[in-house]
Parts: sequence; C-alpha cells; structure tokens
Amino acid sequence: MTELSAEWVLPVDGPPVEGGLVRYEDGRIVEVATGRAERHFEEAVILPGFVNAHSHLEYANYAGFGDGMPFGPWIATHVARKSVLAPEEMLAVARLGALDSLRSGITTTADYSFSGAAATAARERGLRAIVYLEVFARDPADAERQWDERRRQVGESELVRIGISPHAPYTCSLETYRFCLSLGVPVGTHLAESANEVEWLLHGAGPLEAIAGWLVPPTGERPVASLEPVLGPELLCAHCVEVAGDEIELLARRGVPVAHCPRSNALLGCGVAPLTELRGAGVTVGLGTDSPASTPSFDVFEELRSAIAFARAREQRAEALPADEALALATIGAARALRLDAEVGTLTGGKRADLTVVSLAGSPYHPVEDPAAAVVFGGSPDRVLETIVDGQTRYRRQDEEQWQEARSIASAVRARMLGSPQLQRQ
Ligand SMILES: [Zn+2]
Repeated sequence: MTELSAEWVLPVDGPPVEGGLVRYEDGRIVEVATGRAERHFEEAVILPGFVNAHSHLEYANYAGFGDGMPFGPWIATHVARKSVLAPEEMLAVARLGALDSLRSGITTTADYSFSGAAATAARERGLRAIVYLEVFARDPADAERQWDERRRQVGESELVRIGISPHAPYTCSLETYRFCLSLGVPVGTHLAESANEVEWLLHGAGPLEAIAGWLVPPTGERPVASLEPVLGPELLCAHCVEVAGDEIELLARRGVPVAHCPRSNALLGCGVAPLTELRGAGVTVGLGTDSPASTPSFDVFEELRSAIAFARAREQRAEALPADEALALATIGAARALRLDAEVGTLTGGKRADLTVVSLAGSPYHPVEDPAAAVVFGGSPDRVLETIVDGQTRYRRQDEEQWQEARSIASAVRARMLGSPQLQRQ
C-alpha cells in the first residue's frame, strides 16, 4: 500500500479535499481520504493525471516549423521536413514527446502516430496511451497495406493500445474509414479542422491544392456531411472547428467524441471551436494539446488556460468555462472521449493509480482560494513535482537528466531537419 498526501487533493469526481490523502496498491487507487502520509507534499495539489485527447508525440521537436503560414503550405512544409527522418530519429523525437508529456502531468495520451514510434516511446517511458497508426488512403486496399505494414512494427502492452487513424476526410475516402472501423480497434481522425478543408471538400480549391496529389477528390459536402455515414461513438474526432448548428446536433446524436485543441486551432489560424455549443448539445469533449508542430508544447496547463480564455472571449461571459469544468475536460472528459473512463480520469477507488502532483509554492494562487483555479491558472510543467502511472513514478522533478538527454538528442534531429540538403530542395 502506498500513500501520498498534499495540502489539497482534487479527485475531480467530487469536491476538493483539504489535507487530502490518496491510497493505492497494485496500480489501483484504494481510496481518497483525509490525513497526512509519510510522503506529504506541502503547498501542492494531487490530481488525476491529465488525459490528453490529441497528441502527436513524434512531432515533439517541430516547434515553430512554418509558423505563420496558411494551413496548406504549413502542412506541405511539415510533410517535407518529416520525410528526411530515419525511423530511429522518429523514435528519438517520440521519446522526447513521451517525457514532455509526463513532465506536463499527462498520464494518458491519445496519439496519432505517423511511424508507430510513439507506441514504442510510450511503452518504454511508461506513459499510458492509445496509439492510432495513421493511414492516408483513397483506396481502402492502400489503407490495409499501410496498416499491416505499421502494425507489424509495433507492440501493445499493459499501458499501450494500438488503434488506427484515417487521417482526415480530405486525405481518406469513406471506404477507407469503413475499413478502419471494421478492424475493431480504436479509431481516431481529424475532422473539420480548417476552412481550407471545407473549401477542398466542397470545391476542390483553396490552399490545400498545394498538396492535391495526396487528397481525395472533393466530396461536394462539408467535412461532417462527408463522414456522416461513419460517425459514431467509436470515431474520435480531433478539432471540429468548422461545425455549426445541425452538424453539432448530428455529432451529439451519434455520440461522436471530440478532442478540443484550442491552441493548435488558434495558432494555425483555423479559428475557435464552438466549445460551449458542443458541450451544450451533449457532445463528449476532451481537451488535447495536439503537438508542437502547431502548438508550442505538450503543456496541458497552457491548453487549459487557452480553452478558458477562448471560450470566455467567444461567449463574452466569464462563466462560459469555469476552471473546474476545464480541468474536467483534461481529465474525465478526455477519458470519456477515449472510452477509458472506467479506468482513468478521476481519483476514484478501483481506478488505475494515475496521479499528478502540482506545486503551488510561491505561486500567486497560494494560499488557495479555489484549488481547481489554482492548478489551472497557477500550474505549469515546471511545477509538476511527480507523475505516477499505474502506481509507478514515471517522472520526478528532481531527476530530470533523462528528460534533458532526450531533449538534446531530439535537438540534434531537429538540426538535421532544418539543415538537410533534401529539405533545401523543397
Ligand atoms: Zn493532429
């Protein structure tokens, strides 16, 4: 039996516990109670490990690539730079992504993986993950070939499950989606991310013409309508910025889970997803950081603050997204979106012991008035003291050498991506 206590425990499925204690054994939470354990964290909060509803660990060192470009040329730059990497380099970057995630208090991630390296990295670092292997295919036979090839290279483990990701409705046909959904593994896609996607699907025009060779022919319909026949609870949809009215109703009616990625959507100039309308309609929403290819980091705290700022600004109401509800989006909401809520997302007896300890020492939010607001507004990866997955400590602030080493290897890979002759020919 292990016990940890802190000034506050935020179970998320119930009120905050002052002077709280979490007891766990064999990787599962036994209970949340009050009391002081031998391992006590002063001026700190214990909360459920964050569940990241959308990531790409393999892009951990892509920060700022193509910053400020329109979506079409941005994605073309991204693909060109990625193409110079060898498999071991992709793995080195994914390792950094897994460690960056743990360092940000993330204990579960839903990762869309280009090469499969994310699965290896998550398994090695002890990060719980569903790794959705990406396919890009007009013809489902191509999707099957890509899936078979990548699936053979990656293994599952206690913590890591393998799924499939038909990339988006502009790169995959409906038949490809049907093939993916027939496999009986988790399925995730990108949906309605940008106006450029809408323009391509409706008219075969716009900035995505820059990558027309990789795209499916225009469907003549908007993104949600393009996927209408396959929308259901087993298709996790990242972004959903370009959705309105009937489309939101359809997502709700079909039980389609949505990964909301406010920083990525804003920084790529895609817009602000209608979070309030999605939640109001009853859509299951989880918060996702996306990757440093579009956002600067896997920093969930920044993502939480952005989600709140954009929702309140859009609604012109401070109550549009309270801190505790935002925190729920990054824990139990995301766990529901991944259909892992029976196992993770709250500090509840019987669930897996996935915990994050956040220090508030010296923060403007200490002494604490509202512990959820203190964590959301006052938290940062630099304040994560410890991240525990399945009862095992996977990150500890005082021993960061492993993270620093991973960062320096990934920096060397980045230097090659920036300097490669192949890149300069693009
Ligand atoms: Zn993505």
